[in-house]
Amino acid sequence: MLDMGKYEAVIGLEIHAQLATATKLFCGDATGFGADPNTHVSPITLGHPGTLPKTNVKAVEYAIKMGLACGCTIAEDNYFARKNYFYPDLPKGYQISQHTTPICVGGQVSINSLSGLKNIELNRIHLEEDAGKSIHDLSPTHTLIDFNRAGTPLIEIVTEPCLHSAEDAFLYVTEVRKLVRWLGICDGNMEEGSLRCDANISVKLKGDPNLGTRVEVKNLNSIRNIKKAIEYEIERLIYLKETGVDIIQQTRSFDANNDTTFSIRDKEDANDYRYFPDPDLAPFHLTKAYIAAIKAALPSLPNELKIVLKKTYDLPDYDIDQLCEHKEEADFYLALTKETTHYKAAANWMIGPIRAYLNETGTGYEMLYEALPNIVALMEMVEKGQLNFSVASGKVFSAIIQAPQSPIEYATKHNLIQTQSTDEIEKWIEEILNEHPDKVLEYKKGKKGLIGLFMGEIKKKSQGKADPKTTTQLLEKKLTS
Ligand code: ADP
Ligand code: MG
Repeated sequence: MLDMGKYEAVIGLEIHAQLATATKLFCGDATGFGADPNTHVSPITLGHPGTLPKTNVKAVEYAIKMGLACGCTIAEDNYFARKNYFYPDLPKGYQISQHTTPICVGGQVSINSLSGLKNIELNRIHLEEDAGKSIHDLSPTHTLIDFNRAGTPLIEIVTEPCLHSAEDAFLYVTEVRKLVRWLGICDGNMEEGSLRCDANISVKLKGDPNLGTRVEVKNLNSIRNIKKAIEYEIERLIYLKETGVDIIQQTRSFDANNDTTFSIRDKEDANDYRYFPDPDLAPFHLTKAYIAAIKAALPSLPNELKIVLKKTYDLPDYDIDQLCEHKEEADFYLALTKETTHYKAAANWMIGPIRAYLNETGTGYEMLYEALPNIVALMEMVEKGQLNFSVASGKVFSAIIQAPQSPIEYATKHNLIQTQSTDEIEKWIEEILNEHPDKVLEYKKGKKGLIGLFMGEIKKKSQGKADPKTTTQLLEKKLTS
């Protein structure tokens, strides 16, 4: 048995997020995923001699947005450097990156961990260009290269070595993905590689002020795999320590087939990239006014919005967390609550039927705005007891979305309006009780749970029209008489 308790894991994460700009970081080539190979490749992307790059201002703006959202300091003076190395997917022979001058310095991302709110400290967020893609599995004899991705703008979000568990790393990456999507600067799609994470992991004896030797696990293409890789590495490193094997600094890769990692190369600390400022790109200065304007245009961030939802609408924490997962969802909730004061009911509708409907139909919130007044009217019909919730959220909801129309008219026309008429309800009760004399007997002998069965049958018989409150009262009276 390993004595895990003696040790503390230390984790630092590097997340690469592809910025959702239409064009690349230094030229006008398109950035979209899934195009035919080598179709978004101008001479600039391919690094032909004599070509001149030009910085994409949108990418700079997106990086600043992320920095401000994380409370970073934004560097006013910036330049790009060349990081020189040879690799087949790097057509220029160097990557343009920010070496010693990241555009965003410090900052933090807060996560809601098992032991409460934690601030994960950031070291920096810098801009750089992506490389092309080597494809090893299409030809048995050759490696193929697709340069479409080369030059796509990335931000690299680097934490301090301040995480201590796979679980916290999982929550942190989830939070970062939520944030970039919220800001609209990256689609966060890990399967397509828009968001990629490298995990640096070391272990040390608890209380030891010095960090242990780290390994870096690359190619983590899902948040679940990040967690698995870290869990595996922590255990492996502790095992090495316990058995007296020296840990060497390594770059490793995750094998998703058996949830393990394997070494790709031993990493020398002093890679000589011969950094120097790119002479083709002018250094750029960001004015305070420019940064302030970006800050002023930032949307409310999830954590700020959570406080508002608690204060203004007094929703349960679960609802608040759910509504603040996606900006489009939060925005639509806020739009609903401008039109109705049934705040909790609106939250239930959002998390339940509205979400389900959009999932099933593969559509987004933008197509619901037109129907918003009708959705509010529908919600209020349920609140007033005019419509049964399951009828309202199923049949009526999809009808008023598919063809804009008043839910009252629709429900009336289709004879769905719930009735409180005791005569009508008593008739249904009578019928159901007559159909189940044995159950009535059991109920009278004390099996009170059967009330649910009767209610269900009445609901079916009345096609959801029997008002549940009145029905329960009448049914109980009838059964005890
Ligand atoms: P590189 O660019 O060579 O990967 P950095 O110094 O930029 O190196 O660090 C990368 C990441 O590794 C950062 O997130 C940092 O917090 C983390 N890190 C550095 N040292 C350790 C360590 N001993 N244990 C765990 N993480 C570490
Ligand atoms: Mg690294």
